[in-house]
Amino acid sequence: MLDRLNITRRHLLGGMTALAGSTLLPGAYAASTQAPASSPSDASPRSWCIRNACVLTMEEGQAPLHNADVWVVDGRIEAVGEQLAVGDAEIVDGQGCIVMPGLVDTHNHMWQTQMRGMFGQTEERLFFPVTNRLGSHFRPEDTWVGEYLAAMENVNAGVTTSNDFFDNNRSPAHGKAALEALAASPLRARLLFGNESKTTDTMIDLEQLAELQRDWERFDEQGRLSLGLAWRLPDDLNDENAMAMKRREYDVARDMGLPIAVHVSGEEHHAMFQALIDGDFLFPGLQVVHATDARPAHLDALNAAGASLSLTPITEHRVAYGITRLSHFEGVERLGLGIDGNALAGTGDMFAVMKTAALTELAASGEETAVDCRRLLSLATSRAAESIGMGDEIGTLTPGKQADVIMIDTRAVNLGMLPEDPAAFVVFAATPANVSLVAVGGRLAKRDGQLLNVDEQALSSRLEASLSHLKAHL
Ligand SMILES: [Zn+2]
Repeated sequence: MLDRLNITRRHLLGGMTALAGSTLLPGAYAASTQAPASSPSDASPRSWCIRNACVLTMEEGQAPLHNADVWVVDGRIEAVGEQLAVGDAEIVDGQGCIVMPGLVDTHNHMWQTQMRGMFGQTEERLFFPVTNRLGSHFRPEDTWVGEYLAAMENVNAGVTTSNDFFDNNRSPAHGKAALEALAASPLRARLLFGNESKTTDTMIDLEQLAELQRDWERFDEQGRLSLGLAWRLPDDLNDENAMAMKRREYDVARDMGLPIAVHVSGEEHHAMFQALIDGDFLFPGLQVVHATDARPAHLDALNAAGASLSLTPITEHRVAYGITRLSHFEGVERLGLGIDGNALAGTGDMFAVMKTAALTELAASGEETAVDCRRLLSLATSRAAESIGMGDEIGTLTPGKQADVIMIDTRAVNLGMLPEDPAAFVVFAATPANVSLVAVGGRLAKRDGQLLNVDEQALSSRLEASLSHLKAHL
C-alpha cells in the first residue's frame, strides 16, 4: 500500500519532530492514542508561481491557456496569465505540464480504507458484510488509520477535497480520531458526522455534534476542515418512530446550519427519493448520493429545491446499483462525482472515476462523441465544488480563491506530449502517477511527484497493527 502512495524518505520533513505541534484534539482520543504519523508542513513558500504551463482554470467558458503562469500568494490564487511579474516568488517550471484546480471528491467513506484487500467474491466476503462485521470492531486507532490513508492516497492522486461520510462513529473518541487524521493530512475535507453504523435504529450522537460545532474553531485547521451531517433515512420508510428519530437528527443539523448528505440507493431507492420529497427534506444544503436511475420527476424536485447530487460510477457499478449514465443527469443543476470509499472503489483515483463515467456513457449511447470531456472534468472540479457548497472558495483557478492546485506532468512514458485537448487528455489518459505537484490552500503537499511530510515508518506500523486487529475478526 505504501509503495502505491509513492512515499520516499527523501521528503520527510523532520520525522517525528514534526508531530509536536500536531496533537490538536483534547479529550479521550488524545489521551489514549499514539501521536499522528505525520503533520502537514508550513514550510511552503509564501509566494510561488508555476511558469509556462498549459492552464485549465475551469472557469466557465475559459479556453485552455497555453504558456501561462499561476501565481499563489498566502495560500490563495493571486493571478493567472502570461509572463506575470511575480517579484521574488519561488518559481516552479510548468513546461510540459497541465495545471488545473485540485480534484473534488464529492462523496467518500474514508474510514474504511484499510479493508480494501479484504473483499472477495463469496457472499460473506462481499463489501457490505465485511465492512459491517469489521466496522463494529473498529477502534479509534483503526479509524485514524483508515481516514489518514485515504487522505494521503487522495492527495497523491490530485484530489484536494473530499466530502467524507463518516458512518462508523462508534464513540466520541472515534469521531475525534477521524478529525485528528484529517487534521494531520494536507487534504481539505468535510467530515459528515454520522451514526455508529450503517443501520438506522440508533440516533446520531447529537450532543457530540453540537459540542464539535460549538468549538469548531479548534478543529477547523484555518478553514481546511468543515463539518456536516452523514444522515440516513430509516431502513423501513413506513416506521413512524424511526422516521421521527431521523427527522430529529435532520432538524438539529438544519438548526446548526450544517450541510447534510443522504444515500438514495438499493432496491428501495425510488421510494427513498420520494420520501425525501414528501418529507420536505430537500434544501440547498442537502446532497443526495447515487440515485442511479432516479425518475425525472425526482430530479426535477431536486433542482426545484436547489439540492445537489453526487454520482460515484465506480462503486455504483461495483455493487451493481445500476448503470450510471451521465446523460440521465444532464438536467441536474448541482452535480458532482465522487469516489465513495477508497476501499470499495479500490482507489482514490478521480481520473478513474471520470474515465468510468465517460466510458459508460460512450458504450451505452453507441455514440463516440456522446461525452463532452470539458463538461465531465467540471464534475470533478468547478461543478463538484459548487455542488458541495464550496464553489466560492475552490473548484477553479480564480484570483482570490484558495490555491488548491494540481500539476500533471505530460513528460511521462504513459502520456508523452502536451495535448490538443487537455480536458479529454486528463479524462482518458492521466493517472495519479502523472500528478507531479499538489497544493491545498497554497501549501505544497506533493512536489516533483513525491508526497511531502509523510512518516512512512510510523504510518506503516500503525497500518500493520490495525490490519492485524481487524483480520482477527474477518
Ligand atoms: Zn456512500
